[in-house]
Amino acid sequence: MGIGIVGCAGRMGKRLVAIASETSGCHLTGGTVRSGSEASGRDIGELAGVGRLGVAAGESAADLFRHADVVIDFTTPAAAEENADLAATHATALVVGTTGLAESQKTALAEAGRKVPVVYAPNMSLGVNLLSLLVERVAEALDEDFDIEVLEMHHRHKVDAPSGTALALGEAAARGRGIDLEQHAQRVRDGVTGPRKRGDIGFATLRGGDVVGEHSVVFATTGERLELAHKSSDRDIFARGALKAALWTKGKGAGFYSMRDVLGL
Ligand code: NAD
Repeated sequence: MGIGIVGCAGRMGKRLVAIASETSGCHLTGGTVRSGSEASGRDIGELAGVGRLGVAAGESAADLFRHADVVIDFTTPAAAEENADLAATHATALVVGTTGLAESQKTALAEAGRKVPVVYAPNMSLGVNLLSLLVERVAEALDEDFDIEVLEMHHRHKVDAPSGTALALGEAAARGRGIDLEQHAQRVRDGVTGPRKRGDIGFATLRGGDVVGEHSVVFATTGERLELAHKSSDRDIFARGALKAALWTKGKGAGFYSMRDVLGL
């Protein structure tokens, strides 16, 4: 399959290029960088540190979509939204790992999913997708006597909070409990907050250093506490997951898919 990488000079973009270059069943048809970027025109393999691949980083997302069978996006919410339109226009499958999307931007992805296969997952790792299943089951088994808190830590460069994965774990807990996360999320606490509201799902965010991604979901009641946790030490798990999703779209009909679909969970 011909694979295009949007944002190929980013942290994830470089790892996607590196891993795609050594994965059988696919070849890189292009990569884009932000317009005016100093990486523009440079070889995408050299940018990724894997040697020359003979593909230059471009600035035209439309060209990228025109030449690829599937495009992978780990960029910004605004770019992901534009890419959803391009995927539909050029009949190119799309895999989006970008986090921090507003509801309207998720809707744009779902709209594109009416015309082409679109896989969207705020976390592409097998471990986190299993964690999400476990969280849903545990939340289903425990009642509101158990307070649910979602903790996450990421590197100092991360721009959105709580992480997309933390929010997805909150969604999984809410689904298990049969409630709406929007109505019960406590995303920030500061000052005199008063006692914890029964049934709320709390979030806590830590930022620092080079932490790739750590998430835990705590179920706490009087006298006992259950914690489910996942720690990522290498962002290649996300890149491999995204590549797996990209290859999985081959022959799939239009649809708005998740990593649970890709992994058959
Ligand atoms: P990064 O800032 O290192 O990389 C993003 C790159 O996208 C930058 O190089 C930027 O210049 C480029 N970019 C932005 N707009 C563009 C456009 N219109 N065209 C081309 N390039 C454009 O960030 P990162 O650490 O690689 O993370 C990127 C996103 O992926 C974030 O939202 C992050 O939270 C998410 N992420 C998701 C997963 C997952 O498993 N789903 C894992 C890790 C990171």
